[in-house]
Amino acid sequence: MSPKSNGVKIIVRVRPPLPRELAFDTAVEVLSNQELIAYKPEQEFASVYDTVLGEDSTQDDVYKVVKDGVLASLSGYNNTVMAYGQTGTGKTHTMMGEHGVDILDTDKEKQRRSFGIIPKAVQDLFAYAKVLQSRENCLVNIVISYLEIYNDRLYDLLQPYKKNGRDPLDQVKKKEILEVREDGQGNTFVPNLQSVKVKNTEAVMKLMAKGNRNRAVRHTEMNINSSRSHAMLQIAIEQWPDNGNDGRVMRSKLNFVDLAGSERWNTKLDMAVERINELTSINSSLSALGAVVAALSDGRQHVPYRSSKLTHLLQDSLGGNCKTTLIATVSPSGDAFEETVSTLKFADRASNI
Ligand code: ADP
Ligand code: MG
Repeated sequence: MSPKSNGVKIIVRVRPPLPRELAFDTAVEVLSNQELIAYKPEQEFASVYDTVLGEDSTQDDVYKVVKDGVLASLSGYNNTVMAYGQTGTGKTHTMMGEHGVDILDTDKEKQRRSFGIIPKAVQDLFAYAKVLQSRENCLVNIVISYLEIYNDRLYDLLQPYKKNGRDPLDQVKKKEILEVREDGQGNTFVPNLQSVKVKNTEAVMKLMAKGNRNRAVRHTEMNINSSRSHAMLQIAIEQWPDNGNDGRVMRSKLNFVDLAGSERWNTKLDMAVERINELTSINSSLSALGAVVAALSDGRQHVPYRSSKLTHLLQDSLGGNCKTTLIATVSPSGDAFEETVSTLKFADRASNI
């Protein structure tokens, strides 16, 4: 079997069992670096992906697979890397890594082991930008935004929860919510979203830590389960050749998305109307994403980008000349079999031609 070739690269990563999962049978086996099977008595699901990473895969192994796409952003390509999977399967571990305690730790070996895709990508971006600057006299600006999508609404994670003493629900009423706009070339942007020029990896990590704190405060105050929102780091890269003297500029975007948990929620336990809306819109934005990725993989003319904020925002960074990587994360445990198969099927649809 050969992998289905298309514009969307699919990686499946199986994490090691957690202590509580040791009581269950293993339900996933990696057959090769492209094949994997999920099984339990009388049921199985096998498929082929661009890359399959097993339990003992390192953070470096994952980064190696996305590195080319990340660096392509310095050649003008937009690029999106997304982590999709059930809560607890390693989306945040894969995207961010266990960086929290070690943001400013300069032990290189520790960073190599603990940093996920985002810090590694940012380190590489700055390193290559420096080379471009010195070797080609090209001025490189790197600007980041960090936002959250919850209930099909956008929130700026770089702004504190209570802006001017008003909470986001007040802002919704006063129509101060953030919206996705398009310029004449089909590039999407969010007016009023804070973007910060950054000079090094530490600055990015500090801003993300601040964003995560804002996110946690708001989740607590609004009684939101954090696994139900999408977090997106947007990196905008501007390159001015000849130190900006010839007036041309090349722009590209690099998006990293830690998606909401893909599990089905227990609606019986979540009967409040608010909650049901929430569940519907989270599931619908993941289905919207699935539909967009499937349409791109099929090479269809019409891609339904506008069916959710998430896909609308990613319109200029999915498909076309963009590099797109979907990382599906799964647990090896028999306990999670149904969710694992559902994640693998999502990844399959995304790569079906
Ligand atoms: P998610 O973001 O999908 O909810 P997390 O990234 O928070 O999941 O991972 C859940 C737990 O599993 C965390 O304690 C994390 O450290 C651990 N974990 C996830 N993936 C791996 C991995 N590949 N290797 C080791 N531990 C992992
Ligand atoms: Mg997470």
